[in-house]
Amino acid sequence: MVPFGKSKMYTALVLGVHQIPPQLYEAKAIHQIVDEEPLVNAIQFKHWQWIADYYMCSLGEVYRGAMPTAFLLESETILNFKRESVVDVAQLTDDEYLIFEALQNQSSIKLQDAEAILNKKRVFPVIQRLLQKNVLHLHEEVQERYKPKLVKYIRLHEVYMQQEQLMALLQDLKGNKQKEAILMYFQLQARERKPIAASVLKETAAVSDAVLKSLVEKGIFETYSIQEERVNFEDNQENYQIVLSTAQQAAFDDVNREFLSKDVVLLHGITGSGKTEIYIKLIEDTIAQGKQVLYLLPEIALTTQLVTRLTRYFGNKVSVFHSKYSNNERVEVWNNLLKQSENAQIVIGARSALFLPFSNLGLLLVDEEHEQTFKQQDPAPRYHARDAAIVLAQFHQAKTLLGSATPSLETYYNAKNNKYGLVTLAERFGKTPLPEVVLVDLKEAYFRKCMKGHFSVQLIDAIAEALALNEQVIVFQNRRGFAPVLECITCGHIPQCTNCNVSLTYHKFKNQLRCHYCGYTIAKPTSCHACSSSDLSTKGFGTEQIEMELTSLFPERKIKRMDQDTTRGKYSFEKLIDQFKNREIDILVGTQMLAKGLDFDNVSLVGILNADSLLYHPDFRAFERSFQMMTQVAGRAGRSEKQGKVIIQTYNPMHNTIQQVTHNSYTEMFKEQLYDRQIYKYPPFFRLIRLTLKHRDFDKLKESSLWLYQVLKQQIASPVLGPEEPAINKIRNEYIRTILIKIPAQQSVLSTKKTIQKVLDSFDSVAQYRPVKVTVNVDFY
Ligand SMILES: [Zn+2]
Ligand SMILES: [Zn+2]
Repeated sequence: MVPFGKSKMYTALVLGVHQIPPQLYEAKAIHQIVDEEPLVNAIQFKHWQWIADYYMCSLGEVYRGAMPTAFLLESETILNFKRESVVDVAQLTDDEYLIFEALQNQSSIKLQDAEAILNKKRVFPVIQRLLQKNVLHLHEEVQERYKPKLVKYIRLHEVYMQQEQLMALLQDLKGNKQKEAILMYFQLQARERKPIAASVLKETAAVSDAVLKSLVEKGIFETYSIQEERVNFEDNQENYQIVLSTAQQAAFDDVNREFLSKDVVLLHGITGSGKTEIYIKLIEDTIAQGKQVLYLLPEIALTTQLVTRLTRYFGNKVSVFHSKYSNNERVEVWNNLLKQSENAQIVIGARSALFLPFSNLGLLLVDEEHEQTFKQQDPAPRYHARDAAIVLAQFHQAKTLLGSATPSLETYYNAKNNKYGLVTLAERFGKTPLPEVVLVDLKEAYFRKCMKGHFSVQLIDAIAEALALNEQVIVFQNRRGFAPVLECITCGHIPQCTNCNVSLTYHKFKNQLRCHYCGYTIAKPTSCHACSSSDLSTKGFGTEQIEMELTSLFPERKIKRMDQDTTRGKYSFEKLIDQFKNREIDILVGTQMLAKGLDFDNVSLVGILNADSLLYHPDFRAFERSFQMMTQVAGRAGRSEKQGKVIIQTYNPMHNTIQQVTHNSYTEMFKEQLYDRQIYKYPPFFRLIRLTLKHRDFDKLKESSLWLYQVLKQQIASPVLGPEEPAINKIRNEYIRTILIKIPAQQSVLSTKKTIQKVLDSFDSVAQYRPVKVTVNVDFY
């Protein structure tokens, strides 16, 4: 712990110790050593340094993102309102007033909050003036944020362990309840043969706190505390055998063979081919060698299903780590890894699990490796967990297995070029055929009036047929809300967000217009804000509207929606999944959440309402992603004996990507897209670095981004593009410009990054540009 200024305290990690005094400043004394044993090991430091270098951020930013916040001890400056002072509001500037106003509502705020309120980095001058004006006072506090969980246990005093004393005691005791408690204590002890928690005794003996308390006061019972783990998976290891099918066994053998010569192997197994069983066998072999396993998943929500399966097989050797865990829970998993305890041999987690203190990794699994969620966008470090996992594996001399039914283009390219091993599993488990894909031409369907709302008659009939057979249906629409646009028929006005340059999405259930970028909401207007006409109409459609249409088409059926709006609570996603699995829901409507590796055995039909909305995105990966998303959603159909059916509604049935999905032709998609990537200078042939500039002042931003662009263009030989205004050029009141740098794959990225950093440093030294925020995103896609 090191003091800064008069009273501010920071904690830091000791990276190295040396004896060379700094020349430009005087070194501070260390105030206190917080931990006796290091919290971080040498491999972690090496890995964090790699992340900082590769993704162009500071080691401190990696440290901040890597450690559970409970470890990031620091004193916090708290601003307190001075209740006794009389404030003349007229004397306050705008900024001062904003802080004053916030203090009216909250009585104390943190320094960071003040930064957020004023939307600036330098808030101290404002605070200083408020101090002078006697509006507030400051105070500092250092808090230990981790609190161990203590459980109270109870035991009989030594004296009464002797028969005579005990008999005498039982005779002396007046209260019947007290006697019962003591007798129950003996019963429990004989049965459980382990320490008895006070709460357990209280419950089984059905006595009150007061009874136990008086027994303790009399010196008959003693209490003591034991520190416990918050997350304890029940050791429900069963005699559970996994028998691989012939195809799975062959794939398992191939993976092991590839590992002999390659450090990274791609397992390309079609949807429903049973990749998880292969993973489990590989994990078993790894922990048998005394090594650790890290199993990365793209989505936290998927961990519940997986943990159940893994604990059945591996018992309590499994730990889970992700951001929905509380601070204290995360600290405990961290400590278990430090101690190399038995329950930390297999760690399942989302991308942040990469940062845990592993000491002896043998295998890293990255399931659904194509998923976008493996890439962290904000804040720094903006790392890609799959790529960072491969590097971490190198440091541990471990192996990495990437798994997907629809691999990312880059990974498949590496596999095809022998950089990675490639194992293909092209047979579904149980030999169920892949679902049949049927295309519905929307243009024709509308022309022939074969549409009811957004559903073609063909899709409605298929749904009715599936439901009649007691099978379940999934309907996919990758847009939430009711309608993306509310338009005035008279003047064409569309309500926009006041903070962002986007139209507001109509949410019918809450009768609101909402911004999906900043959360701004207004009540749905009854008349146009521009011309007062009451003739308003909606354009486009989202999941909410589809759910409503289905409810009127199938009023008897149970229909539920799964999107960001219905899965906000901690367990709401799991609840929906369970209900659907238990067949309490007939039709599930949802966004891309549905595409992510969920297994349902009774779904025979999947409907994709509007494939075109996926295809036409201003993104070089739009076709690849559309293919992946449609193939993954389609893969939810027909996963037990029966062949499933997928109906795709589209205006472009002959579009190459749609055809590739229909024929399940990953290699066709790969070839076509790879060709485009080469022509248009995209990955894997070029590496992309994107700089994003943000500022509230449009002109200042324009000028500074042009300056940055011109200097970069002079200094870098690779193509520099921009400065471009993105389609949404204003978010949360800040205007946005981007600059794109394309580096040929064979050229040194390192030297280009150094040049970029140098240019950014000189940008920062220009006084009028300094307030412009610049973020660097390496491999931003
Ligand atoms: Zn109007
Ligand atoms: Zn907004």
